Amino acid sequence: MNEPATVLAERTNMVYASTFVTRGEGSGVVIATGDDTEVGRISTLLGKVETLDTPLTEKMARFSTVILWAILGLSGVTFVVGMIRGETAGDMFSAVVALAVRAIPEGLPAAVTITLAIGVSRMARRRAIIRKLPAVETLGSTTVICSDKTGTLTANQMTTKIVEAGGVTYDVSGIGYGLEGEVSPRTSYPDSGQNADPSLEQCLVTGALCNDGDLLPEGEDLVPSGDPTDVALIVAAIKDGIDVRSLRTRCERLDAVPFDSRHRYMATLNCQAETGSRTLHVKGAVEPILERCVTMTDRMGNPIPIDREAIAQSVEEMASGGHRVIAMARKSMDLARESINHESVAGLTFVGIQAIVDPPRPEAKAAIAACRTAGVSVKMITGDHPLTAEAIAEQLGIVDVRQPATTGADLEAMSDTEVTAVAEASSIFARVSPEQKLRLVEALQASGHVVAMTGDGVNDAPALRRADVGVAMGDRGTEVAKEAADIVLTDDNFATIEAAVEEGRGVFDNLTKFLIWTLPTNLGQGLVIMAAVLIGAVLPILPLQILWINMTTAVVLGLTLAFEPREAGIMLRPPRDPDKPIITRTLLVRIVLVGVILLAGAFGLFEYELLLGASEPVARTVAVAVFVVVLAFYLLNSRSLIWSIFRIGVFSNPMIWVGIGIMAVLQLLFTYLPVLNQLFESAPMSAAQWGRVFIVGFAAYAIVGFEKWIRRQMLSSASDS
Ligand code: ADP
Ligand code: MG
Repeated sequence: MNEPATVLAERTNMVYASTFVTRGEGSGVVIATGDDTEVGRISTLLGKVETLDTPLTEKMARFSTVILWAILGLSGVTFVVGMIRGETAGDMFSAVVALAVRAIPEGLPAAVTITLAIGVSRMARRRAIIRKLPAVETLGSTTVICSDKTGTLTANQMTTKIVEAGGVTYDVSGIGYGLEGEVSPRTSYPDSGQNADPSLEQCLVTGALCNDGDLLPEGEDLVPSGDPTDVALIVAAIKDGIDVRSLRTRCERLDAVPFDSRHRYMATLNCQAETGSRTLHVKGAVEPILERCVTMTDRMGNPIPIDREAIAQSVEEMASGGHRVIAMARKSMDLARESINHESVAGLTFVGIQAIVDPPRPEAKAAIAACRTAGVSVKMITGDHPLTAEAIAEQLGIVDVRQPATTGADLEAMSDTEVTAVAEASSIFARVSPEQKLRLVEALQASGHVVAMTGDGVNDAPALRRADVGVAMGDRGTEVAKEAADIVLTDDNFATIEAAVEEGRGVFDNLTKFLIWTLPTNLGQGLVIMAAVLIGAVLPILPLQILWINMTTAVVLGLTLAFEPREAGIMLRPPRDPDKPIITRTLLVRIVLVGVILLAGAFGLFEYELLLGASEPVARTVAVAVFVVVLAFYLLNSRSLIWSIFRIGVFSNPMIWVGIGIMAVLQLLFTYLPVLNQLFESAPMSAAQWGRVFIVGFAAYAIVGFEKWIRRQMLSSASDS
């Protein structure tokens, strides 16, 4: 059991071995994760878990196909009409290729990546580290968050409040890890206070010895190290006057069975220095410990027949109060004993229980409420006792009224369809094993949910990988869990997941904004070329000029949308339906509308300028200017999908104005700089020509603004009815 990690590394896969974290160095031993059958089990499980594509990657793929067909359609029509009009096949072919190339939004993948990357940095500022880029967007469409209880929803600041040993209940005073406090019997009995109760001492000693935690002196302070549950047990022992440090030297540890979430207990073999007598100390969840006990102690520490009913009743009381309940047991071992394993943990004497408080994180409650108004349900999944889970869930507002937890044993007995139903209906899952977490994720996904799941242990890796958003804990988490996760929370805090969901929604918005801003450009260019070919006019915009428009506007104007702040009320709307396309019918109408405006403006003004006697280069420069100016105005429309720029604040995204400023300079250079005139076949424009271009631009803004206004009226009348 106590092999160094390097030996394990040779015997098993390196990846897993790297996570055999040693805990509580101060107290001697230990390698904190299970045996290698366990490792084998996880690696086969991990091998079987498939990852799903994220909604975004799926949607972009679907979207690309649609665009491709649209382009092919347009090109086909153009080709056929051109041939009918008597053009040569060669001419038509190059025209159609030019058209097709024009219509492909080549900046799209880059824009998607950049928008996601900006989301990544925003989330990092809010303590969520993104490991896999698409997770940024997936977070935005998350419909269920399955969260650990201990440490994520609670503060993981554990304090023993009640000890029950030898049939007597003791209250423990003091808060947090502070050592000030006393252990005193709740009700006095004849000789209480005269001498320490032996059974109490046995319970506290077992808690302190079967323990990988420590309090390490650091300057004036004692800094807790290791599992908070362990630290709580040490603090309780110290409060009763036990010198844990010297106790640990006197009772040297010979071997240990580390805690794991499957067995839910930990055991150590300790040897008393003076006598050489050996004792097995065990602590863990009540059910597995009681199963292995045959006797219990009376108040004087003498063995008596075990009263399971009385113990179960106390446990129930403590757990219903939201306490984490740890049972202690022990037995004497023979003098030759050097090592222990799970088989050794049997025929024990029950020496008591400790009830530990772990207060809910104050910020978690608000975050859960925010999730619920945002249509994201929150489910607690814990290895802890069902009654403890129920109490904490109620305190946190995960449920409105107390409701029974679904236990791992319940899940075990269910068919897949039953699990699917209960995964949807229940919000509290207790005594759940990591394998069952995987089953829950799959069940929720089967009913169409986008699932975020948290985890910290090695065994959580399959569930983290399967979840749409696997969330690992940066502080408590093992390397394997982080490896399998899509995001890592640096503060292990549930509120950070909620923040990430919020940012994720913002990113999706900004991506949509970029799409509906950029697609009309391509559509407009395609339409202009098509129109020219169809009516046999000269091209209003040359290929190189189209390149100019695409390269400059996408970068200088379009990308500034990625800096758009989150819209107010982003957490008041339901999560995006993962099956809904990115471009809804409403947005498609807007894209076509702007495409047509670009066609009419550029083509119309081009012909009009020729009519007024302008040269072709000048008229073309005007057509290019129409594109640039309309796109700049339309950029303002696109800052919000619903609201006008005045509602969201004209200067709330300064990058927009920086972009427009740079674009203006570039366009002036394009128009007036001789080198560029030569390169792009552009020519200087007159003030009157600029005036006409701006009229088109402003008209475009007004038309789209009016369209958005109509949508708003439709939205509000829909929500009124
Ligand atoms: P969670 O992290 O969801 O609270 P755990 O798997 O850590 O669940 O704990 C499950 C149960 O195992 C707890 O209720 C407790 O009784 C017991 N337990 C937890 N930590 C330890 C530990 N370090 N040693 C012994 N038992 C423990
Ligand atoms: Mg835990």
